[in-house]
Amino acid sequence: GKVLGGRYEILEKIGGGGMALVYKAKCRLLNRYVAVKILRSEFTGDEEFIKKFKRESQAAASLSHPNIVSIYDVGMEDDIYYIVMEYIKGQTLKELIKSKGALGIEYATNISLQIASALEHAHTNHIVHRDIKSHNIMIREDGTVKVTDFGIARAVSSSTITNTGNIIGSVHYFSPEQARGGYTDEKSDIYSLGVVMYELVTGRIPFEGETPISVALKHIQEEPERPRSINSKIPKSLEDIIMKAMEKDVSQRYNSVSEIIDDLKQSLIMPNGDFVKKNKVLDENTKVI
Ligand code: ATP
Ligand code: MG
Ligand code: MG
Repeated sequence: GKVLGGRYEILEKIGGGGMALVYKAKCRLLNRYVAVKILRSEFTGDEEFIKKFKRESQAAASLSHPNIVSIYDVGMEDDIYYIVMEYIKGQTLKELIKSKGALGIEYATNISLQIASALEHAHTNHIVHRDIKSHNIMIREDGTVKVTDFGIARAVSSSTITNTGNIIGSVHYFSPEQARGGYTDEKSDIYSLGVVMYELVTGRIPFEGETPISVALKHIQEEPERPRSINSKIPKSLEDIIMKAMEKDVSQRYNSVSEIIDDLKQSLIMPNGDFVKKNKVLDENTKVI
């Protein structure tokens, strides 16, 4: 296959979203697999976009955390812009939920804690993800959660709507302020994390609709169906955490991911004070972190 940067041999395509295609590749120099994300050609002519792509690739590469996909390299060659990252052997959270439905409470809490830990690290470093969704969360075979597309989503533009009128990101995870096309910050990631947690414990996303606009409007106006009315196994404490993360009013929403982590850990404590399932295998090979 094609070789980029004189070392990345492109193997099969593993996926593709709105702005890029992702390939499995082999680094010839280090003799290891990597994932190469290649920017779609529609975007390579946009100078402003490329500037942001570079800046945000650097931001993503500055993050080093066990729950964040590592960025190894970026390059530009023959009008191809690409980013080289850690190859994750596993599946996306979207695929996992599609095949298994709602996850068990401890397993869902464990995954939520790992995502929150990734976000806490990013926010501490003043990086906002802005495209947190279950497709951007990978579950490695050993149960480790890896959040992808850090900072890359941000390269798109400060608005969620491109000059061609396309909406970037998945509207199903948009915070109300993102749905309005307005200013987004850490609080937007918190809302999107709330949507992912909702999906983890109910097996479905809170809002669906015929068009992106109709979904966006629901995020702005409509109250989601309570998680406990969909799945009665969900503890009240966990539902409260999800609903506070998904608060439409930013002043009512969690202020920081660290607070979500504290509450999630608290929700795992049993009445006798023991920490639930500590070191106990939860689901296949997944242990509580
Ligand atoms: P969007 O571009 O709208 O964010 P998306 O998140 O589905 O959509 P990509 O981020 O381009 O699209 O990723 C496409 C797919 O490639 C993912 O769903 C995942 O299956 C796979 N993938 C992405 N990054 C990696 C990686 N580091 N290792 C292995 N597979 C990956
Ligand atoms: Mg993605
Ligand atoms: Mg993406």
